[in-house]
Amino acid sequence: MRTYRSGSLTAVLLGALCLWLLVAAAEAAPSPKPELRGWIAVDIGHTLALPGATSARGLTEFSFNLTFGGMLAAEIAAAGADARLVNGDGMIESLPARGRAAAGSRLLLAVHHDSVQPRFFSTWTHEGVERPFSDRNSGFSLFVSRKNAALKASLACASAMGAALRAAGFSPSLYHAERIAGEAKPFADRANGVHYYDNLIVLKSTQGPAVLFEAGVIVNRDEELQLLDDARRGRMARALAAGIVSCTRR
Ligand SMILES: [Zn+2]
Repeated sequence: MRTYRSGSLTAVLLGALCLWLLVAAAEAAPSPKPELRGWIAVDIGHTLALPGATSARGLTEFSFNLTFGGMLAAEIAAAGADARLVNGDGMIESLPARGRAAAGSRLLLAVHHDSVQPRFFSTWTHEGVERPFSDRNSGFSLFVSRKNAALKASLACASAMGAALRAAGFSPSLYHAERIAGEAKPFADRANGVHYYDNLIVLKSTQGPAVLFEAGVIVNRDEELQLLDDARRGRMARALAAGIVSCTRR
């Protein structure tokens, strides 16, 4: 009798424990829908191993992308949206992996800093080192791909970003549309500095809306200093975040 009662009590206790575990598990399990709804993927262009362009003073493009991308993610969060870095450690294995990492986001924004065609470079000596530079071009640029499955939303966001940047006093570069070898990227929205660049892998391999942003030209000696200025970077990040939040709320 005692054994039976003890067994019965054990069964009741085990049952209660199982129920508690089920409830606790249900409460602890991540609910993917709310997490995935509305987040913005801020993709840090290039990697530590292959860091992209080199600035007029010898800094890597990746370092510019990482600093600005972090500021942008913070501004997007301050504007009330959820932002997550893609390739924040600079170790991502491929371009298509960026699109996969952004699956479920409302927008992937690839953050880059610009250079020019090789034939426009001259050299100067900075801190005892001879380095290539070109002061020919300056300004921001935005790109969308007609091979992206969500072109309409991509272009709407790129236009909103360009308009917000212009309203904050920044100017589009426009030179990517020049009819010269290596450029000739047609305008998608000239006023707001948006071009079509159909074969950019990060844009065409992303399932949702995707835009590539060039913040400015780091081989331009004056613009490099502006792009290193934290107050100016902050203004640019705030303007860009406002454009992103406005287009992803539609
Ligand atoms: Zn780049």
